[in-house]
Amino acid sequence: MKAAPFAYVRPSSLSDAVAELAATEGEGKVIAGGQSLTPVLAMRLARPETLIDITAVAGLDQIVDADGVVEIGATVRQRRVERDPVCSMVPLLRAAMPWVGHREIRSRGTVCGSVAHADPAAELPAVASCVDAGVVIAGPGGSRSVLAREFFTGAMMTALGQDEIVSAVRFPVAAPGEGFGFAEIARRHGDFALAGVAARVRLDGETVDAVLTGFGISDRPVTRAVSDELITVVRAGGSESGRMADDLREALSTVADEMVDTDGDAHASRDYRRRLFRTLAARELSKAYHRARSDIDEVNE
Ligand SMILES: Cc1cc2nc3c(=O)[nH]c(=O)nc-3n(C[C@H](O)[C@H](O)[C@H](O)COP(=O)(O)OP(=O)(O)OC[C@H]3O[C@@H](n4cnc5c(N)ncnc54)[C@H](O)[C@@H]3O)c2cc1C
Repeated sequence: MKAAPFAYVRPSSLSDAVAELAATEGEGKVIAGGQSLTPVLAMRLARPETLIDITAVAGLDQIVDADGVVEIGATVRQRRVERDPVCSMVPLLRAAMPWVGHREIRSRGTVCGSVAHADPAAELPAVASCVDAGVVIAGPGGSRSVLAREFFTGAMMTALGQDEIVSAVRFPVAAPGEGFGFAEIARRHGDFALAGVAARVRLDGETVDAVLTGFGISDRPVTRAVSDELITVVRAGGSESGRMADDLREALSTVADEMVDTDGDAHASRDYRRRLFRTLAARELSKAYHRARSDIDEVNE
């Protein structure tokens, strides 16, 4: 099929892009990499009257490292993030990137576009939620910032107003003593995940801060603190990595099962997703813990 007719504008400033979008009164759509929107248009699942192409907007193609944050602008392609040395300061982002579709998709698709699109099975919204990233939003009234954990409000639904544009996502740089884990199960590489997990563990003296974010398991990324479960396993002496994953599988059984609230579909039942998620969560939390430990050991050497 072909897309229904639409008008096309390509503004060169963010204020012009916002003005163009606001002028459509809800009948316009931003287009960035086009990797999700183009199929939607071709299948006529959406019929926007105007496309606002933001790829010529000055300043949105920046990756900026400042104040403990890596800020990724709205037209930065996923493939660039995969290779840019600055982005290695956000290890979870780098770990997730190869799982996003295929290299050809990542060559066009943007990080901010993936966040704005808010597919519940997408990797980058989960990463943003797990590391507590901030979503920077430009609108007619100026700029505002929303925590990723509050930005996703449902399947393909966000806190974005119809006249607002995501101008950047701000990912906190990993602190010393932080470790991460990321994995998913999909039917084929490049498919959206049946279930996936991002894990972050921060060790600081006696303090343990552990977080899991699941994706493909609900209508949005689901984040839960799991410090108590991790501490219980560590105190019981289960820090040898193979055993730790087994012990965590038991310790996480309630929380992991609660996080999976999607209905079953043609690809996987709810019960299967629960089992997948629990196993992935235990393995990746264990890896994150051991990476955090070795990070501390390196700092102390
Ligand atoms: C074959 C295939 C496989 C894929 N596999 C995966 C996968 O495994 N995991 C995954 O996460 N994604 C996958 N994708 C999607 C891909 O990652 C997209 O690039 C991404 O979801 C959207 O980014 P984009 O820049 O292409 O956005 P676009 O397609 O341009 O836009 C997507 C939506 O977001 C809105 N939007 C985009 N940018 C902004 C902005 N700055 N402000 C406000 N709204 C905005 C658009 O209006 C539109 O509604 C796949 C795509 C294809 C075609």
